Amino acid sequence: MSEVTMDKIVSLCRRRGFIFQSSEIYGGLNGAYDYGPLGVQLKNNIRDLWWKEMTQLHDNIVGLDASILMHSRVWEASGHVSNFTDPMVDCKQCKSRFRADQIDLNAPCPVCGNRGTFTAPRNFNLMFATHIGADVDAASTIYLRPETAQGIYVDFKNVVSSSRVKVPFGITQVGKSFRNEITTKNFIFRSCEFEQMEMQWFCKPGTDEQWFPYWREQRMNFYVNKLGIHPEHLRWHQHGPDELAFYAKDAYDIQFLFPMGWQELEGVHSRTDYDLTQHQKFSGKDMTYLDPETNEKYIPYVVETSAGLTRNVLMALSDAYDEEQVEEGDVRTVLHFHPLVAPVTVAVLPLVKKDGLAEYASKLEHELRDEFVTFYDQSAAIGRRYRRQDEIGTPYCVTVDYDTLTDNTVTLRFRDSMEQVRVPVSELVATIKKATKEYKRV
Ligand code: ATP
Repeated sequence: MSEVTMDKIVSLCRRRGFIFQSSEIYGGLNGAYDYGPLGVQLKNNIRDLWWKEMTQLHDNIVGLDASILMHSRVWEASGHVSNFTDPMVDCKQCKSRFRADQIDLNAPCPVCGNRGTFTAPRNFNLMFATHIGADVDAASTIYLRPETAQGIYVDFKNVVSSSRVKVPFGITQVGKSFRNEITTKNFIFRSCEFEQMEMQWFCKPGTDEQWFPYWREQRMNFYVNKLGIHPEHLRWHQHGPDELAFYAKDAYDIQFLFPMGWQELEGVHSRTDYDLTQHQKFSGKDMTYLDPETNEKYIPYVVETSAGLTRNVLMALSDAYDEEQVEEGDVRTVLHFHPLVAPVTVAVLPLVKKDGLAEYASKLEHELRDEFVTFYDQSAAIGRRYRRQDEIGTPYCVTVDYDTLTDNTVTLRFRDSMEQVRVPVSELVATIKKATKEYKRV
């Protein structure tokens, strides 16, 4: 095991096409990132596993894809227009900008080292404002959503009346959110454009106290059992009175041990009926739920699970990264992704290009495409090709050699153990699926 640093992750991501800085050829845009060929597949895999876990596997959770642009009254009702602010200070000497709650204002400036140079803190709204229509005035101001949750609240009644769900039930959504973050360090951990995976669970007031621990347990289990994250890299943090939103009953964050330390990955929050009540007040529309069995009418309470998808990508990379001493003086960089998270599942490699091996391997790779994300590589020595796949976290390599041509068997190499077994081509798909099902994180 080696130390995982952010520099190593950033460099690997760039070198192998996981993540690039946005607009790099123009000097880059802070807080914005592009997901390259491997990065987008990794992100989609995490998203799909989350969606399956939180939507498909339940009969009382339904999906939604609300628009990013919403009526500006939404953000007045939610409190974002008046309260979604961070306190900001500038160093008068070097002009660096900081979040006042993240530094010690009596200490020297962390960038230039001068003392007593900070401006007084002033509040800064994190929402990106833009205008809709041709007129640029206050009436045309709208915001890029800073969270996906409000789209769910605003559509609450539409979903109830159209999809036959009954309280308790959930609505899930995955999508982009935007925050004009004052400090955007630590790579994709905190960016201005990011993706969230959220579920709002609507339940009868009072029952939230049972659902809250239930969803906390579900969410932690997802990371350990479905994404294969090391349990010792995950922990709970309960919000203290100074962190808790005034309307929230209770709030816990799942924290992950990122290269820069323990930081929030997902929030599980008990939000009472605050949001629906606010929307009822501001829209004048009835947001109550009529229980069809008891005829009770109430505004449901909400338990929210709110995870950052792009922050999950950083977690998956940090948790998987390792540099292993294979033999004296020989170190391999390897990403120990869970096979369902890995951007490439199977690499097919002919031992050599000649004598029909390349043709056989290429045909086999085409056949496997229907089942797995595959990759074909015929360049360089076989050992080097294995290492390239280790570095991007491919769990299985299939090698076609001379014996394959006569007996239709191939070598199946496992990334974590580097163990190699001989498998008939006819059993390859089943063998890989079985190994994926039984996968245990090293
Ligand atoms: P912080 O206090 O770190 O600014 P937050 O508590 O405001 O974050 P939430 O509003 O609870 O965060 O957002 C839910 C989740 O969305 C977070 O747990 C995180 O994973 C993700 N998230 C929030 N802001 C960002 C961002 N700027 N970049 C990437 N992911 C983010």
